[in-house]
Amino acid sequence: MARLSAGESALEGALAAAVVLEDDPRYNAGTGSALQLDGETIGMDAAVMDSTGQLGAVAAIQRVRNPILVAREVADTPHWLLAGEGAIAFARKRGHSDYYQVTERARRIHREVLTALQSGTGEAADRWRGFDLEAYWNFPSTWSEVLHRYGSSTIGSVAMDDAGRFAVCNSTGGASPMLFGRVGDSPIIGCGFYAGEEGAIAATGVGEHIVRRMLCKQVYDWLVLGMPLQEALDRGIALFPDSIPVGLIGVTREASGTANNRQMPTATLVE
Ligand code: ASP
Repeated sequence: MARLSAGESALEGALAAAVVLEDDPRYNAGTGSALQLDGETIGMDAAVMDSTGQLGAVAAIQRVRNPILVAREVADTPHWLLAGEGAIAFARKRGHSDYYQVTERARRIHREVLTALQSGTGEAADRWRGFDLEAYWNFPSTWSEVLHRYGSSTIGSVAMDDAGRFAVCNSTGGASPMLFGRVGDSPIIGCGFYAGEEGAIAATGVGEHIVRRMLCKQVYDWLVLGMPLQEALDRGIALFPDSIPVGLIGVTREASGTANNRQMPTATLVE
């Protein structure tokens, strides 16, 4: 809000909010990112977009503190999305130094996911039932090594500035359990995020389900047809069965809103 009050763009405002949330270890993005199944790898996805055509994203990026700032820099290139090793090399070239932190919370969630997969009970086990994990295991350490050695809450921000421009930022450590190289909805345009002349929308939840519904573009298209924001957000959530956690935030010229099927913290600032 300070950025917006100082006359900066919606994108700078949304970006500042996203950086604060990435640095807060309570969230699954940046510093608090979830561990992949080996209990060591952190792969992050992030994206920025605004209604003036700015668009940048990173997928499966490792060892940077603020993926959202790297995504912002991708928007300055002729590309929109960089992934994996290329994204890391790009980040280093742009001065983002090596950064690797595993929070206690990420370790606890990793342990819980392993327990769930082993016992076959719980949400993670339900989602992966029937999947032969060992046959597809792609980490350097083996599945049984990991078992012997030893979840989700992505961040998003949407903003509108004085000039009526809209922006969205989205950043995540992914949805556990995850194989090496997994990319979710968060860096995929129209799925985890969308911004245009009518507003900005960000999503959270299990990426594999969100991409199949192209959720944020779907909600945005309802806005284009004249549907009020809250109704569009609620409809978006209603596309999913209750067993799939999902949440949305959005802003339009008339309103801001949130909808979800789990408890999720949100905050609204209005000048
Ligand atoms: N949507 C993110 C993903 O699937 C996770 C989340 O929102 O919690 O990577």
